[in-house]
Amino acid sequence: MTQVCTRCVMDSTARSITFDAEGRCNYCSEFLARAGVELFKDPAQRQSELDFLVRRLKDEGRGKRYDCIMGLSGGVDSSSAIIKAISLGLRPLAVHMDNGWNSELAQSNIENLVRGLGVDLVTYVIDWREYRSLMQAFFAADVIDVELLYDNAMYAVNYQQARQWRTRWILAGTNLATEGMRIPPAWNWLKYDKRNIKALRRAHDGGSLRSFPAIGTLAYSWNLLVRRVQWVSFLDYFEFNKAEAIEELKRDFHYKPYPHKHYESVFTRLYMGYILPTKFDVDMRKVDYSNLIVSGQMTREEALRLLADPPYPSSVELDRDIAYFQKKLGWTTEEWSAYLSRPERSHEEFASERGLYTGIRDFSRRFRPASAR
Ligand SMILES: [Zn+2]
Repeated sequence: MTQVCTRCVMDSTARSITFDAEGRCNYCSEFLARAGVELFKDPAQRQSELDFLVRRLKDEGRGKRYDCIMGLSGGVDSSSAIIKAISLGLRPLAVHMDNGWNSELAQSNIENLVRGLGVDLVTYVIDWREYRSLMQAFFAADVIDVELLYDNAMYAVNYQQARQWRTRWILAGTNLATEGMRIPPAWNWLKYDKRNIKALRRAHDGGSLRSFPAIGTLAYSWNLLVRRVQWVSFLDYFEFNKAEAIEELKRDFHYKPYPHKHYESVFTRLYMGYILPTKFDVDMRKVDYSNLIVSGQMTREEALRLLADPPYPSSVELDRDIAYFQKKLGWTTEEWSAYLSRPERSHEEFASERGLYTGIRDFSRRFRPASAR
Protein backbone atom coordinates (compact mmCIF):
# COMPACT_ATOMS: atom_id res chain seq x y z
CA MET A 1 0.00 0.00 0.00
CA THR A 2 1.17 3.47 -0.84
CA GLN A 3 1.59 5.70 2.20
CA VAL A 4 0.89 9.41 1.58
CA CYS A 5 2.35 12.22 3.70
CA THR A 6 -0.25 13.87 5.94
CA ARG A 7 1.04 17.40 5.23
CA CYS A 8 2.01 17.27 1.54
CA VAL A 9 1.30 14.71 -1.21
CA MET A 10 4.66 12.94 -1.41
CA ASP A 11 4.23 9.21 -1.00
CA SER A 12 6.07 5.93 -0.76
CA THR A 13 6.57 5.72 -4.53
CA ALA A 14 9.62 7.81 -3.56
CA ARG A 15 11.61 4.85 -2.31
CA SER A 16 13.75 6.61 0.28
CA ILE A 17 10.88 8.56 1.87
CA THR A 18 10.51 8.45 5.65
CA PHE A 19 7.58 9.51 7.84
CA ASP A 20 7.52 10.88 11.38
CA ALA A 21 5.06 9.87 14.10
CA GLU A 22 2.42 12.24 12.68
CA GLY A 23 2.84 10.79 9.21
CA ARG A 24 4.69 13.82 7.83
CA CYS A 25 7.41 13.04 5.32
CA ASN A 26 11.09 13.96 5.29
CA TYR A 27 10.70 16.00 2.06
CA CYS A 28 8.30 18.63 3.34
CA SER A 29 9.87 18.61 6.83
CA GLU A 30 13.33 19.19 5.40
CA PHE A 31 12.01 21.86 3.02
CA LEU A 32 10.31 23.77 5.82
CA ALA A 33 13.34 23.51 8.08
CA ARG A 34 15.65 24.78 5.34
CA ALA A 35 13.46 27.33 3.61
CA GLY A 36 10.62 28.18 6.01
CA VAL A 37 12.17 31.51 7.05
CA GLU A 38 12.87 32.43 3.44
CA LEU A 39 9.38 31.47 2.28
CA PHE A 40 7.48 33.51 4.81
CA LYS A 41 9.78 36.49 4.91
CA ASP A 42 8.62 39.96 5.86
CA PRO A 43 7.96 42.00 2.66
CA ALA A 44 10.07 44.94 3.83
CA GLN A 45 13.01 42.62 4.44
CA ARG A 46 12.52 41.09 1.00
CA GLN A 47 12.47 44.53 -0.61
CA SER A 48 15.66 45.64 1.08
CA GLU A 49 17.42 42.47 -0.03
CA LEU A 50 16.24 43.10 -3.58
CA ASP A 51 17.52 46.69 -3.46
CA PHE A 52 20.87 45.42 -2.24
CA LEU A 53 21.09 42.80 -5.00
CA VAL A 54 20.17 45.25 -7.75
CA ARG A 55 22.72 47.82 -6.53
CA ARG A 56 25.39 45.17 -6.47
CA LEU A 57 24.63 44.01 -10.01
CA LYS A 58 24.65 47.57 -11.31
CA ASP A 59 27.94 48.34 -9.54
CA GLU A 60 29.63 45.27 -10.89
CA GLY A 61 28.09 45.78 -14.32
CA ARG A 62 29.60 49.25 -14.78
CA GLY A 63 31.66 49.37 -17.97
CA LYS A 64 30.23 46.05 -19.12
CA ARG A 65 27.62 45.43 -21.75
CA TYR A 66 25.35 43.38 -19.45
CA ASP A 67 24.72 43.21 -15.72
CA CYS A 68 23.66 39.58 -15.77
CA ILE A 69 22.71 36.52 -17.81
CA MET A 70 19.11 35.36 -17.71
CA GLY A 71 17.78 32.09 -19.06
CA LEU A 72 14.55 32.39 -21.03
CA SER A 73 12.51 29.25 -21.70
CA GLY A 74 9.34 30.97 -22.83
CA GLY A 75 7.57 29.85 -19.66
CA VAL A 76 5.82 32.19 -17.24
CA ASP A 77 8.53 32.12 -14.58
CA SER A 78 11.52 33.03 -16.70
CA SER A 79 9.46 35.55 -18.69
CA SER A 80 8.30 37.30 -15.52
CA ALA A 81 11.79 37.30 -14.08
CA ILE A 82 13.15 39.15 -17.10
CA ILE A 83 10.32 41.71 -17.04
CA LYS A 84 11.10 42.41 -13.39
CA ALA A 85 14.82 42.76 -14.13
CA ILE A 86 14.14 45.30 -16.89
CA SER A 87 11.73 47.28 -14.71
CA LEU A 88 14.48 47.58 -12.09
CA GLY A 89 16.84 49.07 -14.67
CA LEU A 90 19.04 46.01 -15.06
CA ARG A 91 20.63 45.13 -18.39
CA PRO A 92 20.30 41.36 -18.81
CA LEU A 93 21.39 39.23 -21.74
CA ALA A 94 18.62 36.71 -22.39
CA VAL A 95 19.79 33.21 -23.24
CA HIS A 96 17.53 30.66 -24.81
CA MET A 97 18.34 27.04 -25.53
CA ASP A 98 16.84 25.25 -28.47
CA ASN A 99 17.17 21.48 -28.34
CA GLY A 100 14.77 20.85 -31.20
CA TRP A 101 11.71 20.21 -29.01
CA ASN A 102 10.40 23.72 -28.45
CA SER A 103 6.70 24.13 -29.06
CA GLU A 104 5.76 26.79 -31.63
CA LEU A 105 3.91 28.61 -28.89
CA ALA A 106 7.11 28.95 -26.88
CA GLN A 107 8.95 30.37 -29.89
CA SER A 108 6.35 33.06 -30.53
CA ASN A 109 6.08 33.92 -26.83
CA ILE A 110 9.83 34.45 -26.66
CA GLU A 111 9.92 36.57 -29.81
CA ASN A 112 7.11 38.82 -28.60
CA LEU A 113 8.66 39.26 -25.19
CA VAL A 114 12.16 40.02 -26.41
CA ARG A 115 10.86 42.51 -28.99
CA GLY A 116 8.57 44.15 -26.44
CA LEU A 117 11.30 44.54 -23.85
CA GLY A 118 14.09 45.39 -26.28
CA VAL A 119 16.52 42.94 -24.65
CA ASP A 120 19.34 41.18 -26.47
CA LEU A 121 18.75 37.48 -26.95
CA VAL A 122 21.21 34.70 -27.66
CA THR A 123 19.56 31.53 -28.92
CA TYR A 124 21.83 28.57 -28.58
CA VAL A 125 20.77 25.87 -31.04
CA ILE A 126 22.04 22.42 -30.11
CA ASP A 127 22.98 20.29 -33.11
CA TRP A 128 19.90 18.12 -33.50
CA ARG A 129 21.67 15.07 -34.93
CA GLU A 130 24.00 14.93 -31.97
CA TYR A 131 21.21 15.62 -29.50
CA ARG A 132 19.14 12.83 -31.02
CA SER A 133 22.02 10.36 -30.72
CA LEU A 134 22.45 11.31 -27.07
CA MET A 135 18.74 10.87 -26.40
CA GLN A 136 18.80 7.47 -28.13
CA ALA A 137 21.70 6.47 -25.87
CA PHE A 138 19.70 7.41 -22.77
CA PHE A 139 16.63 5.55 -24.02
CA ALA A 140 18.65 2.46 -24.94
CA ALA A 141 20.18 2.39 -21.45
CA ASP A 142 16.77 2.75 -19.73
CA VAL A 143 18.10 5.39 -17.33
CA ILE A 144 15.64 7.78 -15.75
CA ASP A 145 17.01 11.27 -16.28
CA VAL A 146 16.70 11.95 -20.02
CA GLU A 147 16.27 15.66 -19.20
CA LEU A 148 19.79 15.62 -17.81
CA LEU A 149 20.85 16.34 -21.40
CA TYR A 150 18.90 19.58 -21.65
CA ASP A 151 19.62 20.70 -18.10
CA ASN A 152 23.34 20.04 -18.37
CA ALA A 153 23.60 21.91 -21.69
CA MET A 154 21.54 24.77 -20.26
CA TYR A 155 23.94 25.14 -17.32
CA ALA A 156 26.92 24.91 -19.65
CA VAL A 157 25.60 27.62 -21.98
CA ASN A 158 24.66 29.98 -19.15
CA TYR A 159 28.13 29.68 -17.62
CA GLN A 160 29.73 30.14 -21.05
CA GLN A 161 27.78 33.33 -21.63
CA ALA A 162 28.61 34.62 -18.15
CA ARG A 163 32.27 34.08 -18.89
CA GLN A 164 32.10 35.65 -22.33
CA TRP A 165 30.42 38.81 -21.01
CA ARG A 166 32.55 38.93 -17.86
CA THR A 167 29.64 38.84 -15.47
CA ARG A 168 29.34 36.53 -12.49
CA TRP A 169 25.58 36.89 -12.15
CA ILE A 170 23.07 34.46 -13.59
CA LEU A 171 19.49 35.24 -12.65
CA ALA A 172 17.12 32.33 -13.00
CA GLY A 173 13.34 32.35 -13.11
CA THR A 174 13.25 29.85 -10.28
CA ASN A 175 11.84 30.29 -6.82
CA LEU A 176 11.58 28.42 -3.57
CA ALA A 177 7.82 28.66 -3.36
CA THR A 178 7.22 26.57 -6.47
CA GLU A 179 10.34 24.46 -6.83
CA GLY A 180 12.46 24.63 -3.69
CA MET A 181 11.67 21.15 -2.44
CA ARG A 182 14.21 18.45 -2.98
CA ILE A 183 13.42 15.88 -5.67
CA PRO A 184 13.74 12.28 -4.44
CA PRO A 185 17.26 11.04 -5.33
CA ALA A 186 15.93 8.13 -7.39
CA TRP A 187 13.79 10.44 -9.53
CA ASN A 188 16.61 12.23 -11.32
CA TRP A 189 20.39 12.36 -11.56
CA LEU A 190 23.22 14.76 -10.89
CA LYS A 191 22.89 17.52 -13.50
CA TYR A 192 26.66 18.18 -13.77
CA ASP A 193 27.54 14.64 -14.77
CA LYS A 194 29.32 15.08 -18.09
CA ARG A 195 31.12 11.78 -17.60
CA ASN A 196 27.80 9.96 -17.35
CA ILE A 197 26.57 11.57 -20.58
CA LYS A 198 29.77 10.54 -22.37
CA ALA A 199 29.69 7.00 -20.97
CA LEU A 200 26.06 6.50 -21.99
CA ARG A 201 26.81 7.68 -25.52
CA ARG A 202 29.91 5.48 -25.78
CA ALA A 203 28.03 2.42 -24.56
CA HIS A 204 25.30 3.01 -27.12
CA ASP A 205 27.14 3.57 -30.39
CA GLY A 206 30.77 4.24 -29.53
CA GLY A 207 30.28 7.95 -30.27
CA SER A 208 31.73 10.88 -28.35
CA LEU A 209 30.66 14.45 -27.61
CA ARG A 210 31.27 16.86 -30.46
CA SER A 211 29.57 20.23 -30.28
CA PHE A 212 27.25 19.40 -27.39
CA PRO A 213 27.90 22.07 -24.72
CA ALA A 214 28.29 19.79 -21.69
CA ILE A 215 29.53 20.85 -18.25
CA GLY A 216 31.21 18.55 -15.73
CA THR A 217 31.56 18.73 -11.97
CA LEU A 218 35.02 20.30 -12.03
CA ALA A 219 34.00 23.12 -14.37
CA TYR A 220 30.87 23.67 -12.31
CA SER A 221 32.87 23.78 -9.07
CA TRP A 222 35.39 26.15 -10.64
CA ASN A 223 32.59 28.52 -11.64
CA LEU A 224 31.03 28.35 -8.20
CA LEU A 225 34.03 28.34 -5.88
CA VAL A 226 36.75 30.16 -7.83
CA ARG A 227 34.98 32.47 -10.27
CA ARG A 228 32.22 32.93 -7.68
CA VAL A 229 29.49 32.90 -10.30
CA GLN A 230 26.22 33.44 -8.49
CA TRP A 231 23.14 31.53 -9.62
CA VAL A 232 20.28 33.57 -8.17
CA SER A 233 16.69 32.38 -7.82
CA PHE A 234 15.48 35.82 -8.80
CA LEU A 235 11.76 35.34 -8.16
CA ASP A 236 12.50 34.69 -4.50
CA TYR A 237 12.97 38.44 -4.18
CA PHE A 238 9.33 39.12 -5.02
CA GLU A 239 5.88 38.28 -3.78
CA PHE A 240 5.45 36.20 -6.90
CA ASN A 241 1.90 35.54 -7.94
CA LYS A 242 1.67 33.34 -11.00
CA ALA A 243 -1.88 34.27 -12.01
CA GLU A 244 -1.05 37.99 -11.97
CA ALA A 245 2.16 37.31 -13.88
CA ILE A 246 0.23 35.58 -16.66
CA GLU A 247 -2.23 38.50 -16.88
CA GLU A 248 0.60 40.99 -17.23
CA LEU A 249 2.27 38.87 -19.93
CA LYS A 250 -0.97 38.57 -21.86
CA ARG A 251 -1.79 42.25 -21.59
CA ASP A 252 1.63 43.71 -22.40
CA PHE A 253 3.37 41.09 -24.55
CA HIS A 254 0.67 39.19 -26.51
CA TYR A 255 1.60 36.19 -24.43
CA LYS A 256 -0.35 32.98 -24.97
CA PRO A 257 -0.37 30.89 -21.82
CA TYR A 258 0.27 27.15 -21.86
CA PRO A 259 -2.50 24.84 -20.72
CA HIS A 260 -0.14 22.98 -18.35
CA LYS A 261 3.26 23.10 -16.74
CA HIS A 262 6.18 22.02 -18.98
CA TYR A 263 4.30 22.92 -22.15
CA GLU A 264 7.21 24.85 -23.61
CA SER A 265 8.78 21.63 -24.84
CA VAL A 266 7.01 18.73 -26.51
CA PHE A 267 9.51 16.26 -25.13
CA THR A 268 9.40 17.60 -21.57
CA ARG A 269 5.64 17.27 -21.40
CA LEU A 270 5.73 13.74 -22.82
CA TYR A 271 8.54 12.81 -20.46
CA MET A 272 6.92 14.30 -17.34
CA GLY A 273 3.38 13.41 -18.25
CA TYR A 274 3.80 9.92 -19.66
CA ILE A 275 7.29 8.37 -19.77
CA LEU A 276 8.09 8.99 -16.11
CA PRO A 277 4.75 7.73 -14.74
CA THR A 278 4.52 4.77 -17.14
CA LYS A 279 8.06 3.43 -17.26
CA PHE A 280 9.47 4.67 -13.94
CA ASP A 281 6.40 4.94 -11.70
CA VAL A 282 7.31 8.57 -11.00
CA ASP A 283 4.74 11.35 -10.96
CA MET A 284 6.64 14.62 -10.73
CA ARG A 285 3.41 16.50 -10.00
CA LYS A 286 3.71 15.20 -6.45
CA VAL A 287 6.81 17.34 -5.96
CA ASP A 288 5.27 20.36 -7.72
CA TYR A 289 2.06 20.23 -5.70
CA SER A 290 3.82 19.49 -2.42
CA ASN A 291 5.88 22.61 -2.97
CA LEU A 292 2.76 24.67 -3.47
CA ILE A 293 1.10 23.13 -0.40
CA VAL A 294 4.04 23.87 1.88
CA SER A 295 4.30 27.45 0.59
CA GLY A 296 0.57 27.98 1.12
CA GLN A 297 -0.49 28.26 -2.53
CA MET A 298 -2.51 25.06 -2.84
CA THR A 299 -4.52 22.97 -0.44
CA ARG A 300 -3.69 19.31 0.08
CA GLU A 301 -7.25 18.38 -0.91
CA GLU A 302 -6.91 20.22 -4.20
CA ALA A 303 -3.60 18.46 -4.90
CA LEU A 304 -5.09 15.05 -4.18
CA ARG A 305 -8.00 15.83 -6.47
CA LEU A 306 -5.66 16.85 -9.31
CA LEU A 307 -3.47 13.78 -8.77
CA ALA A 308 -6.47 11.52 -9.22
CA ASP A 309 -6.55 12.63 -12.88
CA PRO A 310 -3.94 11.34 -15.33
CA PRO A 311 -1.05 13.77 -15.84
CA TYR A 312 -1.86 14.30 -19.52
CA PRO A 313 -4.46 16.94 -20.39
CA SER A 314 -6.23 14.58 -22.80
CA SER A 315 -5.70 11.30 -24.60
CA VAL A 316 -5.92 13.13 -27.94
CA GLU A 317 -2.94 15.30 -26.99
CA LEU A 318 -1.08 12.30 -25.65
CA ASP A 319 -1.55 10.36 -28.89
CA ARG A 320 -0.48 13.38 -30.91
CA ASP A 321 2.69 13.87 -28.84
CA ILE A 322 3.58 10.17 -28.99
CA ALA A 323 3.21 10.23 -32.78
CA TYR A 324 5.36 13.36 -32.98
CA PHE A 325 7.99 11.74 -30.77
CA GLN A 326 8.10 8.53 -32.83
CA LYS A 327 8.42 10.44 -36.08
CA LYS A 328 11.13 12.76 -34.76
CA LEU A 329 13.25 9.91 -33.41
CA GLY A 330 12.42 7.47 -36.19
CA TRP A 331 10.88 4.90 -33.83
CA THR A 332 8.29 2.30 -34.69
CA THR A 333 5.35 1.71 -32.35
CA GLU A 334 6.97 -1.61 -31.37
CA GLU A 335 10.18 0.17 -30.34
CA TRP A 336 8.15 2.65 -28.29
CA SER A 337 6.26 -0.15 -26.48
CA ALA A 338 9.45 -2.12 -25.91
CA TYR A 339 11.10 0.95 -24.37
CA LEU A 340 8.19 1.56 -22.03
CA SER A 341 8.08 -2.03 -20.83
CA ARG A 342 11.81 -2.64 -20.26
CA PRO A 343 12.90 -2.33 -16.62
CA GLU A 344 14.81 0.72 -15.40
CA ARG A 345 18.58 0.68 -15.11
CA SER A 346 20.59 3.02 -12.91
CA HIS A 347 22.80 5.85 -14.12
CA GLU A 348 25.31 4.30 -11.73
CA GLU A 349 25.89 1.41 -14.09
CA PHE A 350 27.80 3.92 -16.23
CA ALA A 351 30.84 6.03 -15.38
CA SER A 352 29.76 8.97 -13.25
CA GLU A 353 30.97 12.08 -11.46
CA ARG A 354 28.64 11.68 -8.52
CA GLY A 355 31.36 10.61 -6.08
CA LEU A 356 33.49 13.55 -7.18
CA TYR A 357 30.56 15.94 -6.80
CA THR A 358 29.72 14.74 -3.29
CA GLY A 359 33.39 14.93 -2.31
CA ILE A 360 33.79 18.52 -3.52
CA ARG A 361 30.51 19.57 -1.94
CA ASP A 362 31.39 18.12 1.46
CA PHE A 363 34.91 19.51 1.28
CA SER A 364 33.76 23.03 0.41
CA ARG A 365 31.11 22.95 3.14
CA ARG A 366 33.70 22.04 5.73
CA PHE A 367 35.98 24.90 4.76
CA ARG A 368 33.43 27.59 4.18
CA PRO A 369 33.38 30.17 7.00
CA ALA A 370 30.44 29.62 9.34
CA SER A 371 29.03 33.07 8.46
CA ALA A 372 28.59 32.07 4.81
CA ARG A 373 26.77 28.85 5.48
ZN1 LIG B 1 5.39 15.67 3.21
